[in-house]
Amino acid sequence: MAAIDDLPPLREVIETHGLRAKKTLGQNFLLDLNLTARIARAAGDLPGSDILEIGPGPGGLTRGLLAEGARKVLAIEKDGRCMPALAEIAAHYPGRLQVIEGDALEIDPLAHLTPPIRVAANLPYNVGTELLVRWLTPKAWPPFWESLTLMFQREVAERIVAQPGSKAYGRLAILAQWRASARIVLDLPPQAFVPAPKVSSAVVHLTALPEPRFPADPAVLSRVVAAGFNQRRKMLRASLKGVAPGIEDHLAAANIPPTERAEQVGLEAWCALARSIKAAS
Ligand code: SAM
Repeated sequence: MAAIDDLPPLREVIETHGLRAKKTLGQNFLLDLNLTARIARAAGDLPGSDILEIGPGPGGLTRGLLAEGARKVLAIEKDGRCMPALAEIAAHYPGRLQVIEGDALEIDPLAHLTPPIRVAANLPYNVGTELLVRWLTPKAWPPFWESLTLMFQREVAERIVAQPGSKAYGRLAILAQWRASARIVLDLPPQAFVPAPKVSSAVVHLTALPEPRFPADPAVLSRVVAAGFNQRRKMLRASLKGVAPGIEDHLAAANIPPTERAEQVGLEAWCALARSIKAAS
C-alpha cells in the first residue's frame, strides 16, 4: 500500500528516539499507518474541524489525522520522550500540529481549539474511561465536541454501545446513549499493537446529539441509574428504595414494573423515572 506521508516509518521513529513502550503509561503503539489513517477517517469531517488528540505517543494516529486533512491537531502527551518525534511531524505539516506536554486529565485544551472540534484518541484504558465520562457530563449540553473517536478494550466498547437486556448494559451505556449516538466502527486484534496487549480493542465513535434523547435532570438520572445498577440483580423496588420516598409510585409513573431489574429498563423509562423523582423533590 502507498505510504500516507514521506516521514520515516514508525518503527524507525521509535528506534531513532528510543521510544521503548512504558507499561506505566499504558503504551501500546499502532505502527501501521494505513490503519491509523482508517481510524482518522472514522472521526468524520477532518478538513472542517480542529482535532483534539490525547496520547499521540510516537504519532501514528497524529500522522493519520494530518494526512487525511485535519485542519488542526492539538495533541496532548504525557511522555516527554515523544516530543522530538512529534516535533518532526509538526515541521512536516507547518501550522497544523500543536503539541502540549502534560497530563490530559489536568489540562484544559479549549483555549487552543476553534470549533467545530472533534476528539480522537488511543489512550490507556483507565484514562480513556475517565475522560469519556468527563466529556459526556459537561455542565451544559451540547458539549465542546462534535464527535469522539476513541480506542477502548473491546469489553469497554461493548459497555458503551450495549442495549437493555445484555450483560454489558449499565451506567456507561445510559450515559453515552442519552445524549450521543455511539457505535463500534473498528475491531482490532492484540497483534495490531506493539507491544501486543492481552485483550482485543475496538474503536468507538460517538456523535453528540443537539439535545438529550429524552428530557431528564442529569444529576437525578445519574443517581437513579447508579443506584439501580449498583445492585443489578435486585428488583428495582428494592434497589431504588433509598433513592426517593414512595419509589413504587415513581416506578408506576414511569411505567416500569416494580419487579423489573435495572438491566431490563430502557433509556426512555430511566428518563421518565428521573423526571418523576425530580418533580416530587
Ligand atoms: N496514539 C499512539 C498510538 O496509537 O500508537 C499511542 C497510544 S498509547 C496506547 C497511549 C498514549 O497515551 C501513550 O503515548 C501515553 O504516553 C499517553 N498517555 C498516557 N496517559 C496519558 C495522560 N494522562 N495524558 C496524556 N497522555 C497520556
